[in-house]
Amino acid sequence: MLQRRKSFKVKVGNVIIGGGQPIVIQSMTNTDTSDSLATAKQIIELYNAGAQIVRITVNNEESAASVPQICAYLTKQNLDIPIVGDFHYNGHILLKKYHEMARLLAKYRINPGNVGRHDKHDENFQSLIETAILHDKPVRIGVNWGSLDPDLLKKLMDENSKLTEPKDSSTVLKDALIKSALMSAELAVKLGLSQDKIIISTKVSRVNDLIDVYEKLALNCNYPLHVGLTEAGMGSKGIVTSSVALGILLNQGIGDTIRVSLTPEPNESRTKEVEICRQILQALNLKITDPEIVSCPGCGRTTSTYFQELTKDITNHINRNRSNWMQSYPGYEDLKIAVMGCIVNGPGESKHADIGISLPGTNEEPKAPVFIDGKHVTTLSGDNLTNDFIQLINEYVSNKYSQ
Ligand code: SF4
Repeated sequence: MLQRRKSFKVKVGNVIIGGGQPIVIQSMTNTDTSDSLATAKQIIELYNAGAQIVRITVNNEESAASVPQICAYLTKQNLDIPIVGDFHYNGHILLKKYHEMARLLAKYRINPGNVGRHDKHDENFQSLIETAILHDKPVRIGVNWGSLDPDLLKKLMDENSKLTEPKDSSTVLKDALIKSALMSAELAVKLGLSQDKIIISTKVSRVNDLIDVYEKLALNCNYPLHVGLTEAGMGSKGIVTSSVALGILLNQGIGDTIRVSLTPEPNESRTKEVEICRQILQALNLKITDPEIVSCPGCGRTTSTYFQELTKDITNHINRNRSNWMQSYPGYEDLKIAVMGCIVNGPGESKHADIGISLPGTNEEPKAPVFIDGKHVTTLSGDNLTNDFIQLINEYVSNKYSQ
């Protein structure tokens, strides 16, 4: 087991972040928040996919007014999901004006770079923190290098240029990110916010920079850290860079809550980023949320696509049933399924799984032996093979994991 970095414990609605608690998965909607129904429905999708906290943009009066309707919809569905408001530029105004929104949100995300310039910065920041204190809410001080406080960056660049051996600009920028977060946290505490109401993030979009920044940040504070590679990109690029960055940090015990910021393909579900978070935590053995499906990669012995289709159907079946099975079959996530493509490794790998099937490879007899708990129990064949095997999985889960 990895040694987790010690941090304060912060309560966000019904979820605890930090203090050695299991790492929390979060996500963010991409609907227009003023469309309360679309936003509530997407929150539920993200929650069903495994997000424990969902952030929504609150960028104008319509969005702020929509928050109570969103929360009412979730309550009607009997769902208690912590909703975080993402504020930039006008958060101090919206939080003061829309009390019900301020009361219902479980956390406020504040970006110190977008709170206001010059003398307005501290005044607006103070207003945000006062509202958090009034409603007893935690905040995330979320610094991002795309919106770093320009006054602070300029000051640090000027100071650096006067050094006999100036640092390179990338190092100054990274220092500025950390400084912005820690100075803001210090100011919030001075204003009366308790330390166990603060979470910090300092996001950048390059893997090596993210690792540098978080390693330093982790050494310099005890606040829980929200970790994620910002603007990670689309498709495999976003998945790989996020996984590498988060994997390296989490493996050092750094990170209390994670988000993967993927650009979805057009019409792709938003839930993909939650799935990636789950898989990262599962790969590191930090949180097991899904049964393991061992499937053969295919080779010259598999001239049909059946093993691919069956693997996909089983994966979809498990994804569809996740929330039901989590409730009805605690521990089901330990299940190990094998879907193999030929006799070479098929029976052996299937015997190692809880339930496994060894499909026939090219020129093999069109029959598929099924193994349960290491024993050959039946042989499937014919057009209904997929449904028959899924039925056997359902029975196995129900028999083994019923409370
Ligand atoms: S199990 Fe068979 S079909 Fe699959 S990769 Fe191995 S040898 Fe090829």
